[in-house]
Amino acid sequence: MMFTHEHEQLRRTVERFCREEINPHYEAWEEAGIYPAHDVFRRLGELGLLGLTKPASVGGAELDYSYAVVMAEALGACRGGAVPMSIGVQTDMATPALARFGSAELQQEFLAPAIAGEMVACVGVSEPGAGSDVAAIRTTARKDGDDYVIDGGKLWITNGAQADWMCCLATTSEGAAHRNKSLIVVPMRTRGVTVERTIRKIGMLASDTAQIHFDGVRVPQRYRIGDEGRGFTYQMLQFQEERLWAAANSLQGLDRAIADTIEYTRQRRIFGRSVLDQQVVHYTLAELQTEVEALRALVYRATERYVAGQDVTQLASMAKLKAGRLTREVADKCLQYWGGMGFTWDNPVSQLYRDGRVASIGGGADEVMLSIIAKIAGTLPKGDA
Ligand SMILES: Cc1cc2nc3c(=O)[nH]c(=O)nc-3n(C[C@H](O)[C@H](O)[C@H](O)COP(=O)(O)OP(=O)(O)OC[C@H]3O[C@@H](n4cnc5c(N)ncnc54)[C@H](O)[C@@H]3O)c2cc1C
Repeated sequence: MMFTHEHEQLRRTVERFCREEINPHYEAWEEAGIYPAHDVFRRLGELGLLGLTKPASVGGAELDYSYAVVMAEALGACRGGAVPMSIGVQTDMATPALARFGSAELQQEFLAPAIAGEMVACVGVSEPGAGSDVAAIRTTARKDGDDYVIDGGKLWITNGAQADWMCCLATTSEGAAHRNKSLIVVPMRTRGVTVERTIRKIGMLASDTAQIHFDGVRVPQRYRIGDEGRGFTYQMLQFQEERLWAAANSLQGLDRAIADTIEYTRQRRIFGRSVLDQQVVHYTLAELQTEVEALRALVYRATERYVAGQDVTQLASMAKLKAGRLTREVADKCLQYWGGMGFTWDNPVSQLYRDGRVASIGGGADEVMLSIIAKIAGTLPKGDA
């Protein structure tokens, strides 16, 4: 992929933001189990970073998706994965469907403030009984006059404890599971919406992950994004950007883990030579660097095709799968070469080890990616999801 001066400028701006405005607070936010998303988003909004690919009519920059990928990659300059993940939810997971299919009125009410950094968004797909099997969701939105009345709940909602609105997938009619759902904007301060709890996790600590309950939540039908019954399809499209974003976002953390490990093992001596001088160590690190470059090439290729208007479902799924697997491998192998230091909390590689584990689970588990890839390859048995 050819990067222009504008891409490089964007990359520098985002990396500086991470170094100067996020990293100094990172430890405190991790300890608190939440970070001030409203404050951080207001700053990102001022810098014009929350609407790179969004329409100008709502304050976006209307750039192509390669800019979103550059930003995702540059956010890897953050010390951990939690804050980038939360920002990615705002820019590339909760808002793409609203930008593509939402009415002008709905976009002014919810997308424009999300781009300005005045509102925090979350995306509500997963539920206690439905994660990988999205079609199995149980949250319903029943029509009553001009409103929908929503009952049910969502689990694992990133930004959920502090979000202003949710892009919520709910069942809106009887009928086939892929054609009876809609995406609806649910303002989180509406009566009947409760944050039941925030979930204690093994990583991504600075990001709040919430369980949300809906009890007779009344929202106007005009809060539906696009057509009724198209929510599942819209969400599948929205997942493309989420997956490409996640793969791009993993790259810098992997580079850094390897670089930090090279630096540490170069000065750490065992049996009369450095740890790095052991052939198994420098060969393993060389192998991992090669893998990261291969992942980067895959991400850029998928991006190029996406920008050209092609369907990249398969390539984005491959990139997400590879990113998840490679993050686990890099974190585990690098951690090993730090010895006991690798097992300490403040070690940069142990941070990747904790935060990176979710890459093989969230946004579609590795096995879900394999099913999609196989389905497009025509090798999935008929009738399998
Ligand atoms: C930190 C974090 C943040 C998240 N943020 C959000 C969010 O903001 N919004 C949201 O909607 N969701 C979010 N999620 C939920 C996430 O998308 C789900 O956890 C994920 O889709 C997996 O669903 P599940 O946890 O229900 O696992 P299950 O669906 O129960 O799957 C369990 C395991 O089964 C295996 N599996 C799945 N499919 C197959 C198959 N076909 N064949 C064989 N094995 C298979 C996989 O290994 C999978 O991990 C988040 C999750 C985490 C952990």
